Amino acid sequence: MRAIQLMAYGRPLEIREVPTPTPRGEEVLVRVGGAGICHTDLHIAEGKIATLPTLPFTLGHEVAGYVERVGESVKGVSVGERVVVYGAWSERTDRHSIRGEGNLSDPSGWMGVGRPGGYAEFVLVPSYRYLVPLNADPVEAAPLADAGLTPYRAIKKMLSYLFPGTIAVVLGIGGLGSFALQYLRLFAPYSKLVAVDVKESRLRQARDLGADLTVDASVEDPVEAVMDLTGREGVNGVLDLVGTDSTMDQALRMAGRESIVVIVGQAGGTMKYSPRVASEIAVTFSSWGTLTELTEVVKLAEMGLVRSRIQRISFEEINDTFNKLRDGGVEGRAVLVP
Ligand code: ZN
Repeated sequence: MRAIQLMAYGRPLEIREVPTPTPRGEEVLVRVGGAGICHTDLHIAEGKIATLPTLPFTLGHEVAGYVERVGESVKGVSVGERVVVYGAWSERTDRHSIRGEGNLSDPSGWMGVGRPGGYAEFVLVPSYRYLVPLNADPVEAAPLADAGLTPYRAIKKMLSYLFPGTIAVVLGIGGLGSFALQYLRLFAPYSKLVAVDVKESRLRQARDLGADLTVDASVEDPVEAVMDLTGREGVNGVLDLVGTDSTMDQALRMAGRESIVVIVGQAGGTMKYSPRVASEIAVTFSSWGTLTELTEVVKLAEMGLVRSRIQRISFEEINDTFNKLRDGGVEGRAVLVP
């Protein structure tokens, strides 16, 4: 099969011919319909994450497709069926793994992070239990597996802080941010939404998705804008999907009394935290999502309650797409279609 592989850190990816895996036992071979291109893939390709895979390596942790072949112990999954792949694979037997919370387990087990991923014609899934049945187009659905799932988990952490009249802020309106705004519109229709980015095209998209106020952080200080909006009180929830020194600082400074700041972005920033004890701000992190949460996200998409904006790319366009993503030039989610 054809696969796009990372041969050396910091080098362009290469299209290579590799053996097509044969599924055994509980394993399932999935024909990739679409594989989303994520910022984390860039970080891995540049050798900038804590646990790095052995090279050559096939990236891609955001996959939907079709069941191609199944191992002899596979139950309840039939050849040809459309599926979204839950990629936080874990072979551990700890509490989190047993509960389908591979996102809290060891990244060296994850699809496209520690084990071969979806930048290929086929991906070998270690168990049929990681497949979520899909009643939609796999190319459109691929981003659900991460761009859709990650903000779903993060926004759920924020919901108990949002009640009528509150304000929530999303920092960074890329692939994840557009989903985050949709979840907030759905689950907290009574809260005002503020979207912050440095690109006007993304802020326009944020307004289309229901943001009440957009702030272009390249021309305006988002903290000042939010403080003006709230009469200097600060907001009730901030989701940081960027994770630089600057965005984490902004998130903490715009947080009001008894608010929550959820950090998801991993741009390598360091948080400077001067305790504001009297404000009782909760600061927390959110990492990917659980298998159960992915089933919920897929359901929302099938019901037409959330949608992803995608652009299809071919194998040959992968390095160009990586360069564009690095410069913030990808609109919506780029999805690799084998
Ligand atoms: Zn990702």
